[in-house]
Amino acid sequence: MFDKKEYNKKYRQLHKDEINVYTKQWRKDNPDKVKQSNKKWGLITHPKWNPITSPINNPRRLNYKGKQIYLKENPRTGICSSCGKGVGEGIKKTSIHHIQYHDDNPLKDTIELCSGCHRKETCRLRREGK
Ligand SMILES: [Zn+2]
Repeated sequence: MFDKKEYNKKYRQLHKDEINVYTKQWRKDNPDKVKQSNKKWGLITHPKWNPITSPINNPRRLNYKGKQIYLKENPRTGICSSCGKGVGEGIKKTSIHHIQYHDDNPLKDTIELCSGCHRKETCRLRREGK
């Protein structure tokens, strides 16, 4: 049986570069349509997808012991304290990593990390059995 989905997938893989060139050219030739579709999808200009102001990415939201808590102020600087990357410079947002949990002060003993460094740190702690 002819599987159209599979065929399309293979076709795209085989002609990846051609398709990229075509898409780029199309975007150049149709700036209005690109603008329209950007508007439709909102992209980064929409507050919902803006990494700083997004309510789904609320910087005042903190993950504490698996629970989400909301802080009065944004504790983040937007810069990873491990690799030094900032939001918009290759990272989308930062995470507050808990070195130690303090129920009376959820922000105590925390460091700000990008998602990459946070993942590394979490893996390291898991390996060490903490
Ligand atoms: Zn980092």
